[in-house]
This record gives sequence, C-alpha cells and structure tokens, in this order.
Amino acid sequence: MEQIDWELFKRVVEFRLMKKHSENSQKFVIPPEVSCVTKTLEKAGFKAYLVGGCVRDLLLARRPKDWDVTTNAKPEEIIALFSNTFYENNFGTVGVVNEETKDETLKVVEVTPFRLETTYSDNRRPDAVSWSDNVNDDLKRRDFTINAIALEITEGEGESFMGNIIDPFDGRSDLKRKIVKIAGDAHERLEEDALRLLRGVRIATELDFTIDSAAEKAIIANAELLKNISPERIRDEFVRIIMSDNPSKGIQMAQNMGILKFVVPELLEGIGVEQNKAHAFDVWTHLLETLKHAKKKEWPLEIRLAALFHDISKPETRRRNPKTGEWSFYGHEVVGARVTKNILTRLKFSREIIAKVTKLVRWHMFFSDTEQITLSAVRRMINNVGRENIWDLMNVRICDRIGTGRPKEDPYRLRKYKSMIEEALKDPISVGMLKINGARVMEVTKMPPGPKIGYILHALLEEVLEDPKQNTAQYLEERAQKLALLDEKTLKNMGEKGKEKKEEMQEEDVKEIRKKYWVQ
Ligand code: ATP
Ligand code: MG
Repeated sequence: MEQIDWELFKRVVEFRLMKKHSENSQKFVIPPEVSCVTKTLEKAGFKAYLVGGCVRDLLLARRPKDWDVTTNAKPEEIIALFSNTFYENNFGTVGVVNEETKDETLKVVEVTPFRLETTYSDNRRPDAVSWSDNVNDDLKRRDFTINAIALEITEGEGESFMGNIIDPFDGRSDLKRKIVKIAGDAHERLEEDALRLLRGVRIATELDFTIDSAAEKAIIANAELLKNISPERIRDEFVRIIMSDNPSKGIQMAQNMGILKFVVPELLEGIGVEQNKAHAFDVWTHLLETLKHAKKKEWPLEIRLAALFHDISKPETRRRNPKTGEWSFYGHEVVGARVTKNILTRLKFSREIIAKVTKLVRWHMFFSDTEQITLSAVRRMINNVGRENIWDLMNVRICDRIGTGRPKEDPYRLRKYKSMIEEALKDPISVGMLKINGARVMEVTKMPPGPKIGYILHALLEEVLEDPKQNTAQYLEERAQKLALLDEKTLKNMGEKGKEKKEEMQEEDVKEIRKKYWVQ
C-alpha cells in the first residue's frame, strides 16, 4: 500500500476550500445608496442580502434596473431603521427612499423580509405571506435560477465591495450557459403564478438567453393560465419585450411557446397571410420586420407599437381582385386603427399612448409619390395625424418600407417628402405675426375702417421683416400713428412693398428647406 502524503492531501483540501471560497466571494461595484441600506440593517443586528435581478445583472456586468434587498428584519423593524420609507403592499416590502440621488434606479431601494412560500390557488397570488428567518427559503420562492441568487456584502467601502454569493440553484452556471431555467419544478412554479410564463420569455429576450427545455415544455402546457393574469401585469412584460434589444425575437418566442395568443391574439391572424409580389413576406413576418427596424432606429414605444400593429387588419380586409388575381387590402388602416385601439385599451395602456399609436396606424397609408403629391395633400396629412405626430408617422412609414424587404427607402423621394413636410409646417409669413392688429391700428390712429389700415399693416410687416426686434406693441403703435399721416398713394406703395418682401422671404424659406434636404 502506498503511503498517504498527508502534506499534499492537506494542501489539496486547502486549495479546494480556497477555490470554493474565491468562487463564492468576489468583487462588486455597488452604489453607496444601496450598501448603506444593507449596512444599516446589519448594524442593527439583522442579516441583509442583495437579491434577484440586481444580483443577476451584477454577475452579468449589466446595469441593474432596480435594487432589491432581503432581510430577516420584519417590516416594522425595517421602517424603524430608516427615516424615509413607505409601506404599501401585502408582501411586506418596505421602500427605502433616497431623495438626494438623481439616478432613477436608486430613488427607492426595496427591502423585503425573507418570505416563506405558501400555497397559490388562483395562479397569481400566494394565499398568505409569511416570514422566514432563512435566506434560502426566500430564494426558493423566486422564479428562475438566475433570479434566485443572493449576495451578502462582506467588506469594502465607497463603491467597491467584496460579496459572498448564495446560489442554491446554481444560477451562476445558467448565467454562463445563457439559460432561463425555472427554480424547482417547472409545472408547479408556473401554476403558482402564471405571469412567470411571460416573465420567462421577457427575461430571455432582454438577456438574449434561451429557455431551458423543461421550462419550455411547461410554458407550452400551461399557456392558458395566462388568462388568469391581470392585463396590467401582462402589459408591463409585453412593453419590456417591445423595448428590448430584440423585440421581434421575443414576440416570435412568445408565439412559439403558445403564449402570444393570450397577449395579442390579433397578431396571429397574419401568420401565413400572403401579400402581393412587392412584399417579400407574409403579414406576420412583415410586422415583425417592421418592428425590428423600429428597434434598430431606437424609436420609442409608440413607434414600435405602431410598427408592430400597422397592418394588423390586413388579413381581415384581404380580397382577391378576380380580374388581375392581385390581393387588395382596402381600408385595412381604418379597421387596423380600431383593432389597435381595442388591443391597447384591453392591455390598459395610457390614454396618450392609445391615441398616438392609433393615429399612426390610421394614417400610415399616405400617398407619397413626390412626383405627383401636392403641398396641400401634405398639409391635409399633417392635419389628419396632427403636427406633433407627423415626423413619427414618417418614421413608421420608413420602418414599414424596410420591413417589406426593400433594402432602402428611395433616398431622394424620402428627402423630398421631408422637405415638403417642413415646408407645410412652416407658419406662413403674414400680418398676423405682428404685435399689432387692424383694430388696434384703428384705435391708435383714430382712422375708420378701409384699405389704408391694410396698407399700414403691410408697411409695418416690411419693417419687422427687415428687423424683427421692432416687433413690439409700443414701437408699432408709434409707427402706425406716423404712417397714418401719409397720403393714401404713398401708403399703398409702402404696403405693396411689404407684400413683395413677404413673398420673397417665403420663397427664401422654401429654398433653404430644399437646400437642407438636397432636393429641387
Ligand atoms: P428587472 O429588475 O430587470 O425587471 P427582475 O428579475 O429584478 O428584473 P423584478 O420584477 O424587479 O424583476 O423582481 C425582482 C425579483 O423578484 C426577481 O429577480 C425574482 O427573484 C423575484 N420575482 C419577481 N417576480 C416574481 C414572480 N412572479 N415569481 C417569483 N419570483 C419573482
Ligand atoms: Mg429588479
């Protein structure tokens, strides 16, 4: 028998221990607003851990969206330790408020006592909430392995800390493998709270992870449970998918797992609905491609939603022309606006968002052949969609075109269209811009109504166009009185000059705009 080399054995064990320790203990950058909360709890003799999404994000070197702390202190004990807190839910969460910070993500640090999981009988809320004195209990109730990691700050100062990781579900290896995996039994956990089906897709989309196969099977099998979830909670996850870096992939993933049907069933109608030759894609793919471009341009939520919904009623309105064999989609934007409004209302979006997205869908079909379009047609369009929405409508239109599979918006046409919009938006130069009006001219000059009043106003307009600083009530009133002394013929000439100046400047403006867009 060989002699055991105890010396070596000891060194191996020590090395292993050290390695294990160094794996669990690492450096983190944690803002003082957060470490101050855990320190305060610890100084009072409690345990305190960072937990959930913020630990996951720290381990991924992503910036956390919010910071959650879990502790063995009870809500009353937490409240007693901090000067500015609020307490308003059934889960024992105390918001510790930081008024000084400018960083939105640090304004409130949420502190929740270790929670013990109880039963769920309605697929959305635990029947009761009870506290535990063990952080592991709290981790067990969390949804995904990557969200069930706690971090205890051990030492450090400023923003740099050493922390100990508590990771009972080995979430870190799922972070490495980029997998969203349910902590515990997938079916059970989804049944408890069906929002987790959609959270899984949302988190996978945001992090660009895949959903592990047990979770996928369980999501597919339990898709219907989403019916029990409130529209507000569904909306929040849906919005996060739309605002992620790869929204079209997220929507596709939701569809693949059978849950899109319980979020926006109207979208499914477009699957396999062929269009005419100018379109490379079916309606469904076209909508996803349009959304993809809206994300690529980093457009805000409203434009992304309009991109996703703009052709939502094409399937419903599709007819085949018996002579040409071509498809038509007459009125799809009108029906589509109505359907969009229904979807957004059902999901409890704000009135502003509903109004804007609906308008963008309603007017997305504008005629844009710049060879033929007139300025008054552009004016009508602006009137329909609203001045404040016209550029967003243009942006939806560009996404639409890219989403059709055409490589590029015709650059000249696009620039021409933009220049026409700007032209139409420009307020006309007129005597209405003056800080005096006809009635006031009559008052200060004591003149009766008649053509002379108009001449005076136009003469004043010329002066103001020459030197905009003169556009004050006081100056113009004094000038009007002096002008009133002139004979009618001289005044008429001056008025004519004012009109010419106005025309000239308007033409100049148009030239400037066209130059800006490099168009004729
Ligand atoms: P982010 O903050 O980026 O939105 P998050 O994972 O932190 O992502 P939160 O809604 O802030 O999401 O939730 C914080 C943590 O609470 C999660 O990481 C998870 O541990 C737990 N959690 C949230 N919602 C659920 C749920 N429905 N079921 C179980 N655990 C949940
Ligand atoms: Mg969070």
